[in-house]
Amino acid sequence: MVWLQKSNLRCVITLTDEIFLSLKNLDGYEIINMETCTRCGACANSCPAYIATKDNHAIPAWKGIEFRRLFNRQRGSLSAILGQRPVPRGWLRNISDRGLYLCSLCGRCMPGCVFTIQNLELWEKLRSIIFEAKEVSPNLMRVSESLEQKLNPYDYDPAERTSWVKELGPVDVKIGQKAETLYFVGCTSAYQEKKIASSTANILNKMNEDWSIFGLDEWCCGDPHIAVGDQDKARDYAQHNIEVASSLGAKRIITSCAHCYRMWQWKYPQLLGKRNDIEVLHITQYLKDCLESDRLRLEGVSGKLTYHDPCYLSRLGGIVNEPRSVISKAATNFVEMKERTFDTYCCGGGGMTEFVNKDLWTKIGDERFRQAKKTDPELLVSACPFCHRSLTQAAQRSSSNIQILDIAELVAKQLKD
Ligand code: SF4
Ligand code: SF4
Repeated sequence: MVWLQKSNLRCVITLTDEIFLSLKNLDGYEIINMETCTRCGACANSCPAYIATKDNHAIPAWKGIEFRRLFNRQRGSLSAILGQRPVPRGWLRNISDRGLYLCSLCGRCMPGCVFTIQNLELWEKLRSIIFEAKEVSPNLMRVSESLEQKLNPYDYDPAERTSWVKELGPVDVKIGQKAETLYFVGCTSAYQEKKIASSTANILNKMNEDWSIFGLDEWCCGDPHIAVGDQDKARDYAQHNIEVASSLGAKRIITSCAHCYRMWQWKYPQLLGKRNDIEVLHITQYLKDCLESDRLRLEGVSGKLTYHDPCYLSRLGGIVNEPRSVISKAATNFVEMKERTFDTYCCGGGGMTEFVNKDLWTKIGDERFRQAKKTDPELLVSACPFCHRSLTQAAQRSSSNIQILDIAELVAKQLKD
């Protein structure tokens, strides 16, 4: 089909101020989703970025309209009549400058859409088109350079990836050794939220697992590449991490991070076009299994506790019961927020928002923390290092005494002998 052949066009930068886009990787399902949008704008009420900024360019429909305008130049029904036309570069700059990054890639616009249009994949594809056209936000390009040179998005020394072991322990952590279970630490826990890594290691030791970390061979999971729009690099990193896991004989991967989990469980098979041979578990799934089989026993903390569902674990990962099952054993006074499970509210941490638009990251984090405070908790627990970071900073900004904990930290504290 001519239509499909056109989808394989590579990005060609012309000498004029117009450009042919590849629009590659845009599949029929995504095109139907794009064409279904009626531009009603109902999704605005669900979007944390719009709620935080009241900027019309943050309304999810704005991105959808702009995307369709690009698409119609080269692959839509209009191009069938008028032929393929290049896209003015100014359109791409406008998308990049105004609305593309007023978005934390939280996916809340999907249940918020009257037709439940699967917007998130479209926003990721739109970012990849802007990346190919070299119109990416300079802040995100710095993230991209760090990924390229340091294998993490934060510009940390790659040799320091396992420094948390020496700093926090436990001492008996296998590094880059053959094991049935591999703990994929993830960049945020390895470099910034080290207590999460250390707590997870303590739990795995307590369970007498045959486990190891990847060590210096662990590369970023690739989620920040998706935020940048570099799908090819995300694929390369997926391939690398899977090869390391296979070479170490792993039967399962455990992640602390909701973004790493989504990459391993959902995006790696999509990027590489084949199913995982290795079981992938988020730590909450692992903990639930350990508790149910009575291998793990906990003391219940008495303070009032609420739980923040990470977007990438709940709405985008379907994991909502497991953390609640763990919390029911680790706490005696659990109270739910109104915005929870699949309707959870973003912490601001997705889409590398802290780097691309710090003001937006701050505002979304403050709103989520305000929602949590309504339950009057002593403890606010989450299950993702991005959320831990965003919510900790929000608590500090409001001089709150609410303790922010990751679920692995909570469990490690409440372990019974
Ligand atoms: S992904 Fe989240 S921040 Fe982005 S448009 Fe949708 S609801 Fe808004
Ligand atoms: S609610 Fe759905 S149909 Fe309406 S503008 Fe938003 S994405 Fe489009």
